[in-house]
Amino acid sequence: MKIIQMPELLANKIAAGEVVERPASVVKELVENSIDANSTWIKIELTEAGLQQIKVSDDGDGMSAEDAEHAFLRHATSKIKDENDLFHVRTLGFRGEALASIASVSKLTVKTSEGDTASTFLRLEGGKVVEKNKSDARKGTEITIDDLFYNTPARLKYMKSLHTELGHITDLLNRLALSHPEIRFEAIHNGKGLFRTSGSGDLLHVISSIYGMNVARKMLPIKHETLDFTVHGYIAKPEVTRASRTYISTIINGRYIRSNPLIQSIVRGYHTLLPIGRSPIVVLNIDMDPILVDVNVHPTKLEVRFSKDKELYGEIENQIRSKFREITLIPEMEQQS
Ligand code: ADP
Ligand code: MG
Repeated sequence: MKIIQMPELLANKIAAGEVVERPASVVKELVENSIDANSTWIKIELTEAGLQQIKVSDDGDGMSAEDAEHAFLRHATSKIKDENDLFHVRTLGFRGEALASIASVSKLTVKTSEGDTASTFLRLEGGKVVEKNKSDARKGTEITIDDLFYNTPARLKYMKSLHTELGHITDLLNRLALSHPEIRFEAIHNGKGLFRTSGSGDLLHVISSIYGMNVARKMLPIKHETLDFTVHGYIAKPEVTRASRTYISTIINGRYIRSNPLIQSIVRGYHTLLPIGRSPIVVLNIDMDPILVDVNVHPTKLEVRFSKDKELYGEIENQIRSKFREITLIPEMEQQS
C-alpha cells in the first residue's frame, strides 16, 4: 500500500493554507465566531499587526469544557447538522474548519464559559492540546493566538509589511462592524485604540465611527423591499467620493461579501454623477431567504452566488438612481413654489 490517509494534524495544516492566509484571516474567523455566538460586545487586541498576538474576547454563549475541545477538531461545528441545513445557513460559519486550521499554525489559548460556575482553559501548540485547566473566565470566550505561522516558515516569509497587514485587518474590522451595528466593537493595536462602535444598532453611528462625522453627514438612507429582497443602508452623496472601491460594502444576510457585478450595479446607479475614476462610499445590506444564496463557494465565503442575481442588480441600480432623482427634484420644486 502506497496510499495512506493523512493524520488529522497534517490535514489541518494543509487546510490552513487556504483558510489562514494572513493575520487578517485569523481575525476574520475569530470575530465571525464571536458574532455567531450571539455576542453583544467583541474586543480585538492586536500586537505587531497580529503577527505577534491576536486576542479576541466576547460576551457570547461560550462553550462547555467538552465543546471547547471538540471545537478544534476538523469539520467540527455546532452550526449545521445535516445536508438540509447547508441550504438555510444563517450563521457566518458552518464549515467547522477555522479553529482547527488556525490552531495548527499557531500557539493558541482559549478561556471560555457558558456563564455557570464552570469555565475552561485550554492551551494548544500546533493544533495539539498541551494544557487543560479550569479558568476564571466570565460568560463568553477569549481566544489568544501567539506566534502565527511559527511552524510554517514559508508562509511567515510571505507576510508583507506590518503596515500592509494592519491595513488588511482594519479593512476587515471596518466591514464586520458595519455589518453588525448592534454589536459593540473595540479594536486596539499595540495598546492604541483603532476604533470603537457603540452597539446602538444605528448604522449611521457606525459609519460615523469608521469614516468620520463629515462622511456620515453626507449619507442618504436607502430602503426598498421587493418580494425576494430587502435592500437597506446608506449611500453617500456624489460630492464625497474616494479613489478606490473599498469604500463600498455589500452585506448579504449579515455577511460581508465581495461581488464585482454587485459593486458595478451600485456604481451604475450613480450614473454620470461620479467624477471619472472616483468611487462612492456605500454600505448596503441585502436581506433575502438563505435558500437564494449559496455561500459555499469558497472557504473564506467572501464570494457567494445568488439565484435571481440579475433582478437584484437591476433593483439596486434603480433604487440608487431614483434616490438621486428624488433629491435633485426636491430643490427644483422648492424653487418653483
Ligand atoms: P464554524 O464556525 O464553521 O462552526 P469553527 O472552527 O470556526 O467552525 O468553530 C468551531 C465551533 O466552535 C463553532 O461551531 C462553535 O460551536 C464553537 N466556537 C468557536 N468560537 C466560539 C466563540 N467565540 N463562542 C462560542 N463558541 C465558539
Ligand atoms: Mg467559524
